[in-house]
Amino acid sequence: MDAEITIVGGGVIGLAIAAQVSSNCREVYVLEKNERCGMGVSSRNSEVIHAGIYYPQGTLKAILCVEGRELLYGLCAQNNIPHKKTGKIIIAVKDDELAELETLHQTALGNSIPSVRMLTKEQVQRMEPNVRAVGGLHSPETGILNAHALMDYYAHTAQTNGAQISCGTEVTGIEPMAGGYLVKTTNQRGESFEFTTGRVINSAGLCSDTVAAMSGAEYKLHYCKGDYFGIADSRRGLVNHLIYPVPEKNHVGLGVHLTLGLDGHMKLGPDTKYIDRVEDFRIDAGKSERFYAGASKFLPFLTPADVTPEMAGIRPKLQGPDDNFKDFVIREDRPGFINLVGMESPGLTASPAIAKYVERMLK
Ligand SMILES: Cc1cc2nc3c(=O)[nH]c(=O)nc-3n(C[C@H](O)[C@H](O)[C@H](O)COP(=O)(O)OP(=O)(O)OC[C@H]3O[C@@H](n4cnc5c(N)ncnc54)[C@H](O)[C@@H]3O)c2cc1C
Repeated sequence: MDAEITIVGGGVIGLAIAAQVSSNCREVYVLEKNERCGMGVSSRNSEVIHAGIYYPQGTLKAILCVEGRELLYGLCAQNNIPHKKTGKIIIAVKDDELAELETLHQTALGNSIPSVRMLTKEQVQRMEPNVRAVGGLHSPETGILNAHALMDYYAHTAQTNGAQISCGTEVTGIEPMAGGYLVKTTNQRGESFEFTTGRVINSAGLCSDTVAAMSGAEYKLHYCKGDYFGIADSRRGLVNHLIYPVPEKNHVGLGVHLTLGLDGHMKLGPDTKYIDRVEDFRIDAGKSERFYAGASKFLPFLTPADVTPEMAGIRPKLQGPDDNFKDFVIREDRPGFINLVGMESPGLTASPAIAKYVERMLK
C-alpha cells in the first residue's frame, strides 16, 4: 500500500485526526480539495470553546465536547494558541424562560459540568451591568480561541510526525481492493492521480455524505446557514462574557447570541436557515433589523446603526428542518473506512477528543 491511512478533508477535524494518528502510523496522507487547509466550515464559525451544556446525556456530542474542551484548553496553553476562558451566561429575558434555564442546568450537571450555576437577576446585573435579564445560567468553562492557530498547530504536528498534506487534491472516487482501497484524485489543473491506502477516514465536512457514498453508506446532509452581524467597535468592552438567549426549540441553533473575538470585537449570530446550495455565503443585509430587534432585548445599549452584516457559515447537519436532535456520526461503514458525518457544532471544541476516538476505532 502507498499509504497506511488516508484522510479526506483538511479541516479542523481531519487535521486533528492527522496529528493524532501520525504519531503511530507510517504513511498518513491528508487530501484537501481547496488550495489551503481550513477554508471550509472550520473557517466560518463562532470560535467558541463550548462547555457541553446543551447536548443530550450520553451522546457523542456531549461526551466528546466535554472531553475535547478539557484537552483543548491544555493544547492551547501548551502551544501558545490564542484563547481566553471568557465564561458565558445564558440569560432569560422573560420570567417564563427561567424554567428552561433550570432544565439546561440539569442537562449540564448530567453531562458532568458541575461548575455551571444558576444566577439571579441581581447576580447577572453585577457580572454584566449592560445586559438586561431576569436570571441566568453561568458557564465559567466556556471560552474562545483562534481556530486557524489551532489548525496550524494540528497541521504542523502531523507534518512533523511525517504526515503528508496535499492541498488542491480532490478525492473523486474510492474503490475497495484487496487489503484496502484505491483512491482516485484530481488536482486543480484537472490531472488525475490514484494510489492505494490501507484505511480511509472521511472528514469532508459539507461533502462528507458524498464521500461516504464511496463506502456504500447513505447519508443525507442538510445545509443550515448561519449569518453573523458585527456590532460597532465603539461598543467594545461593554460586555465581558458570551451572552446567549435560551436555545431554539429542537436545538437547531443556539439562538442569536453575542460572541466576543479575542480582540474584543463583538458579533451577533449565527441564526439558522436551511438552504439548498452548499457554497452560498452571501448575507442578507435586510436581516439587520431582525438581529437588532432580537439582541436589543438583552443588550439595551444597541442602536440599529451598531449592527452590520459580517459573515456567514454553513452547518453540515444530519438534522433536517422537522427533525429532532441528531448526533455526530463516526462510524466504520466498511472495514477500514470510517465516516464522520454531521460534524456541526461542537466539532471545533470536540476536535482533539474526536481524534482520539477515531484512533481508538483504528486500533
Ligand atoms: C455557523 C457555525 C458556527 C459554529 N460555531 C462553532 C463554535 O463556536 N464552536 C464549535 O466547537 N464548533 C462550532 N461550529 C462547528 C465547527 O465549525 C465544525 O464542527 C468544524 O469546523 C467541522 O470541521 P470539519 O473538518 O469536519 O469540516 P471542514 O472544515 O469543512 O473541513 C472539511 C474539508 O474537506 C474538504 N473536502 C470536501 N470534499 C473533499 C474531497 N472530495 N476531496 C478532498 N477534500 C474535500 C473541504 O474542502 C474542507 O476543507 C460551528 C459551525 C458553523 C457552521
